[in-house]
Amino acid sequence: MFKAKNLLLWAILILFTFTLLGCSTDTSGSIKEPEENSPENNGEEIVQEEPIDLKEIKANEVGQIMVLEWHVIGEKEGRWARTYENFRKDLETLYERGYRLVSLRDVLNNNISTEAGFTPVILTFDDGTSGHFRYIEKDGEMIIDPTCAVGILKEMNELYPDFGLEATFFVNKYPIPFEQRAYWQDKVKEVIELGMDIGNHTVNHPKLNKLSQEEVAKELALMVEMIEEVVPGYKMDTLALPFGIKPQDINWAVQGEYQGIDYHNIGVLDVGSTPMKSPVAKGYDPTLLPRVQVFGEGAEDNLLKWLDYFDKNPHLRYISDGDPDTIAVPKDQEEKVDTSRIGEKELIIYE
Ligand SMILES: [Zn+2]
Repeated sequence: MFKAKNLLLWAILILFTFTLLGCSTDTSGSIKEPEENSPENNGEEIVQEEPIDLKEIKANEVGQIMVLEWHVIGEKEGRWARTYENFRKDLETLYERGYRLVSLRDVLNNNISTEAGFTPVILTFDDGTSGHFRYIEKDGEMIIDPTCAVGILKEMNELYPDFGLEATFFVNKYPIPFEQRAYWQDKVKEVIELGMDIGNHTVNHPKLNKLSQEEVAKELALMVEMIEEVVPGYKMDTLALPFGIKPQDINWAVQGEYQGIDYHNIGVLDVGSTPMKSPVAKGYDPTLLPRVQVFGEGAEDNLLKWLDYFDKNPHLRYISDGDPDTIAVPKDQEEKVDTSRIGEKELIIYE
């Protein structure tokens, strides 16, 4: 009896020792604590990636994406205007509800690298008003006004780096982009340096259905030339239709040439009024992409209406699998996929 109890104690002691040894030597292949700045790891953290559970994160890359649209951002709220305060709130709401900024061009190129389990959202601003981007003088230097849209976007990105810093500003030649005549070139450069985009909104903001093909081409090509002169090599390749009005033939808006200046828009954006289809969904049409306008307060807040709509219809919401090279779709949404749009990517259907 005494012996047996002694043996049991020994066995427990030995097991305990092995467990401790196991933890410190770690030959089991589990995650190791990286040694600080050892020559092997160059000071970088070694991260062993856990496989993503597509079902758990509810990945759905054939779901819909919102292209949000603001016009005036300023002191007053209105049908075509948002206050600075409400704009900041819009961004905070998006962040809290699992949305992350993605560039319009990345979506159009079906190159969405949003973190797994989150929903990409596109920000667009029409008409290049000063509330979008304003410089102010501070200690003899011109700095970004922290209250304008670019200032707020930068601040949000500093507070929440995983939110991202992506937006497209659709500008005209008349009036001059972002209104401060002496600084418009600096601002165009700065938008692009920050990793955001400048989009085409035509030279004169005309109703394109009233124009001939040559007049449409002139409106678009001269904008491409204007921006390229400021940022050589930058290709302006997205268009927001003024008033949401199409030319007589939509192809005139997609590509053309005027006096040797070519333009090719990989996306043409409407003014209204729904989320867009995934770039791999049947019926996706980059030559007329709908947008969701952000306006209204309280029960009339149009952004909140759409966010609630996706909460009530979660199967319609785009949720990223975190890997731009794979397209993950739940089995019950499979029929929405346009397989001709998958290209080089791997389609993963899961149950
Ligand atoms: Zn406009």
